[in-house]
Amino acid sequence: MTEQQRIPTIEDIAAYYDQMTDFYATLWGESIHVGYWPDSASDISLEAAQDCYTDLMISRLSVQPGQRVLDVGCGTGEPAIRLSQQMGVEVVGITISHLQVARANARATRRGVPNQVRFEFINAMHLPYSPATFDAAWALESIFHMPDRSQVLREIKRVLRPGGRLVIAEAVEIGPMTDAERRVLWAGVQATSYITPAAYIQTLQAAEFSVQEVIDISAHTHKTLAKTVEAIHQPERTERLLTLYDQDFVTLMKQVWTDVVDSYQGKMGYMVFVAQKPA
Ligand code: SAH
Repeated sequence: MTEQQRIPTIEDIAAYYDQMTDFYATLWGESIHVGYWPDSASDISLEAAQDCYTDLMISRLSVQPGQRVLDVGCGTGEPAIRLSQQMGVEVVGITISHLQVARANARATRRGVPNQVRFEFINAMHLPYSPATFDAAWALESIFHMPDRSQVLREIKRVLRPGGRLVIAEAVEIGPMTDAERRVLWAGVQATSYITPAAYIQTLQAAEFSVQEVIDISAHTHKTLAKTVEAIHQPERTERLLTLYDQDFVTLMKQVWTDVVDSYQGKMGYMVFVAQKPA
């Protein structure tokens, strides 16, 4: 990292999601995470692939009906609602975007689960919950935004019950990256850090989690970026974006996403980490 690399603050990330939630909803639909194509030859839509990704995470969380789950960085709530409906669990989702809290709670009401799933404006760096409040937690594409991964992991561990699981899914650095490439990528998605899989495992262990499983899903998720760039150039999506944002912004985003794809190739992978708080 160089001096020119500006690490986004919590306020930057909050402003980013207040501004970008509609952008992602236009290009990606309900969830703000990559798609998972179970079979690389299959050509299911990005939205269908996003649901497959959520289902993979649900399968790794191993929860029982009636348990409580913390969703760290919940977006507009689709993954938490899907989890609750499939597994019969209660979910508390947290985000630092007021707009997302409102959208996610409205979604829970619309989908008939306002008593099982609720969303709160809370910074994951300081969780206001008592020790052992949750049976499990997950963080789907959110921790790379946070200022200190170790602190977030310690906070999550504190609020998990002994033996509780944590499932994390996010992009990781796999190839040597230049500072310039890192700058483009980090600025494009408001990241504060991406680390290697080995560093991730060490960070989890240093926070006293045992690492149960590490799954490399890079090959199953990589179509997401191409699909995003394809979507952003579709005339009907551009038209819709122009009802929400001005022309300069839409032009800038087209460039940013093309640049992100260029910096990403062969340098970034995507992993799922399944960890457990010792019993
Ligand atoms: N997991 C969701 C959203 C992913 S987008 C989904 O898969 O659809 C990243 C999310 O992380 C956003 O909701 C953002 O507000 C949240 N986030 C980023 N930094 C955070 C922090 N410090 N505390 C809580 N949430 C945070």
